[in-house]
Amino acid sequence: MTALLDTLRGVVGAANVLHEGDLSAWEQDWRRRWRGKALAVVRPGNTAEVAAVLRACATAGVSVVPQGGNTGLVGGGVPDASGTQVLLSLQRLNRVREIDEANLTLTAEAGCVLQAVQHAAEERGLLFPLSLAAEGSCTLGGNLATNAGGTQVLRWGNARELCLGLEVVTAEGEIWSGLSGLRKDNTGYDLRDLFIGSEGTLGVITAATMKLAPQPAATGTALAACASVADCVALLQLARARLGAGLTGFEMMGGYALALTAKHFPTLPHPLPEAAWTVLLEHSDTESEAHAREAFEGVLGAALEAGIVHDAVVAETLAQGQALWHVRESIPLAQAEEGPNIKHDISVPVSRIPAFVEETDAALQAQFPGVQLVNFGHLGDGNLHYNVQAPRGEDGRRFLAEQEHAVNTVVFDAVARHGGSFSAEHGIGALKRDELSRRKSPVALALMRRIKAALDPQNLLNPGRVI
Ligand code: FAD
Repeated sequence: MTALLDTLRGVVGAANVLHEGDLSAWEQDWRRRWRGKALAVVRPGNTAEVAAVLRACATAGVSVVPQGGNTGLVGGGVPDASGTQVLLSLQRLNRVREIDEANLTLTAEAGCVLQAVQHAAEERGLLFPLSLAAEGSCTLGGNLATNAGGTQVLRWGNARELCLGLEVVTAEGEIWSGLSGLRKDNTGYDLRDLFIGSEGTLGVITAATMKLAPQPAATGTALAACASVADCVALLQLARARLGAGLTGFEMMGGYALALTAKHFPTLPHPLPEAAWTVLLEHSDTESEAHAREAFEGVLGAALEAGIVHDAVVAETLAQGQALWHVRESIPLAQAEEGPNIKHDISVPVSRIPAFVEETDAALQAQFPGVQLVNFGHLGDGNLHYNVQAPRGEDGRRFLAEQEHAVNTVVFDAVARHGGSFSAEHGIGALKRDELSRRKSPVALALMRRIKAALDPQNLLNPGRVI
């Protein structure tokens, strides 16, 4: 291994090959659920260096774990405990290469922090709509490798829908230059779509060309209180009918989820404390503030009249709107403060959400009396973060250790009955690999294995993850 480390030092410089001291920032995940040991953390500064690192590792038969911002939630971006894997950090590939205003595209390197990409677009008066609570730390490459969703999927789609082209380094160190600003290109198999969502198991993304959009003239935010999940779904239908493509966010938050943010972050606003379910709506308007407000008040007025909503507040200023979003985005942090919980990131067709929640809540309460449900998520996409916390007074860590499998079985069986997915946004990583082999069809698994073997014949890219 000394020879490999020397070669890597020659490629990226000695200062960018770390193998002593505290490497926990790379070896441990954000939630401290997985902790591994890397042979070395290697930090290339450009695509040619990434390719040279992968060629050296392929020659030495050493496996590589790509990592961006290390905000992933399924243990896919940290090394295993063997001490034999190279942790490839993409963080130094952080240049925005080009913004083409007429083509509405931006080309940026994989290590660019998502927020920096948003700001680069904003500086040209344009919008890069991918947005999620980890945007201050996660990277464009990680977003694409996990096909991240976030809060704007309802209008703009997942990372995949926003991506027009990729630059990728293969397991053997070849560079595929697939950067393209084309919206139409039917020249053979879509390699780009193969790498998106592959969680570092098929290739290393080094840059991407992403779609931009004009900035809206005005953005409005409101909260609405609903008595049931069915009413939240009815509000979604009404808002879609009235606002069309102007409806850019629709987040549902359960009463207990908001009670946790109020408890752990008491300075945050909590305007509808009695609501069983609170919906956060965002409306982006291409005309004006006044038009945005009128359209929004129309939706909420009709919803109040129909009895779908029993109380509502509309943000008066952009800052108030941002504060309401901040409440939504603080739920995962409030949960982390409260203690361990069993997280699920599921999707079912929107029409099935009320029945899914009712049946699954009842089944869990019957099997684990007193269990606490932290339910929130992107209702407009049929995607819920349906999280399960130990019954009050019970040790959360022990509940997690002893009951995770049983809880997952209840939740994932219900998801399957309702035609859903057991991993809507966060991917498979290490956490859900066994679930994938249990729940994906044998034909789908066989096809995935054949693709993996074709692109990574030595099984060196993020082995043991996904498949
Ligand atoms: P990492 O965590 O570093 O890596 C994630 C995976 O991608 C790993 O398997 C890694 O090997 C691989 N990878 C990373 N970079 C590359 C690359 N350049 N080439 C190939 N493979 C690579 N996700 C959502 O979809 N929607 C949300 O709303 C959402 N909210 C979140 C909120 C919080 C507070 C947190 C902590 C996470 C959230 N996530 C969400 C999880 C989400 O997957 C990540 O935040 C983000 O997309 C991962 O980016 P990253 O750069 O941190 O990737």
